[in-house]
Amino acid sequence: MKNIAVLGSSGSIGASTLDVVRRFPGSFQVVALAVNSDIDSLYKQIKEFKPQNVCVRDECKARLLAKKIPSSVKIYCGEIGLEELVKDKSIDQVVFAVSGAAALGPLISAIKSGKDIALANKEALVMAGQIIMRLALKHKVNILPIDSEQSAIWQALLGQDQASIRSIYLTASGGPFRNVSKRKLNSVTINNVLHHPRWKMGKKITVDSATLMNKGLEILEAMFLFNVEVNKIKVLIHPEALIHSMIEFVDGVVMAQLSATDMRIPIQYALAYPKRLANQLPRIDFYSLKQLHFAKPNYNKFPCLGLAYQAARQLGCLPAVLNAANEVSVEKFLKGSIKFMTIPKVVEKVMCKHRNLANPSLSDIMQADAWARQEAYNVVGRLG
Ligand code: MG
Repeated sequence: MKNIAVLGSSGSIGASTLDVVRRFPGSFQVVALAVNSDIDSLYKQIKEFKPQNVCVRDECKARLLAKKIPSSVKIYCGEIGLEELVKDKSIDQVVFAVSGAAALGPLISAIKSGKDIALANKEALVMAGQIIMRLALKHKVNILPIDSEQSAIWQALLGQDQASIRSIYLTASGGPFRNVSKRKLNSVTINNVLHHPRWKMGKKITVDSATLMNKGLEILEAMFLFNVEVNKIKVLIHPEALIHSMIEFVDGVVMAQLSATDMRIPIQYALAYPKRLANQLPRIDFYSLKQLHFAKPNYNKFPCLGLAYQAARQLGCLPAVLNAANEVSVEKFLKGSIKFMTIPKVVEKVMCKHRNLANPSLSDIMQADAWARQEAYNVVGRLG
């Protein structure tokens, strides 16, 4: 029996994680849950999964919840609360299904307390990948990816020599605007963006998928998780999203990982690793598949991808700056304050202004993050 904490349990990955747990009552137990502010979902989850500890980031909502649930359930609140909750002795593995830079503190806290990590959050790793991976090595903690592409690379690498990687093909569905002209991208609406053709996800990642920043963040994620150089990572548009990524080895052999587009599949593997558990999840029907398509990404239409490569080449604090400027731009886009194509403009302007630092400490990274957020607000003010 593995005891699991699910951070971000009211979101899409959180709900899928709980569904995996529900399917294997003899293998996994939920001992802690955390949400931002959605206490209605959390209340139902507490009734069903009976965790000992929960965390609500919004302190007013935490007080409201306290009136409704048994006093035997301990409630933590705020960001500090989340850093405390992950240290609890009963937890074996922490699922990071929260989005954004806010995951960084709790992630470091969980690694330092020796918990295995199932990681869906990208932003923390993008910001401080080298520090996080060093820390995980020091504390003998596994960081098991949930993101479908990283899960694919991880699985294709099992039993292989990491030094024999020639290239990683990071596949991308291409998002909802794969076939939309650059001119038309100027006038796409929030509703156009939030309708993703392959995956149903949270709002932040859905916008990132439309700008291809999501793939950009995954370049950085893959570099850090698998310790590969940026020039070995190639983005490959694959609209069917059945091949979740591939590795080409030095001898010309390619290992690909395929499965139906259902996030419960990589989640289940990260929870059950090294076991494979038989399930009733969707399958690929190869007999009904006519074709699989592949294409080069269009860097002109999707400048975020080039910006992410730039951050991946220069490293230092630049990935954190890219991420922070992107988080602010996406938030502003979702509020209707800026246009879709202004997102990469803001990120680029903030990156250009940044004076980079080699081998930054965690506090250097936090400072760069705060600086980039402020700078992004300023740029949005000027452009908006
Ligand atoms: Mg992905």
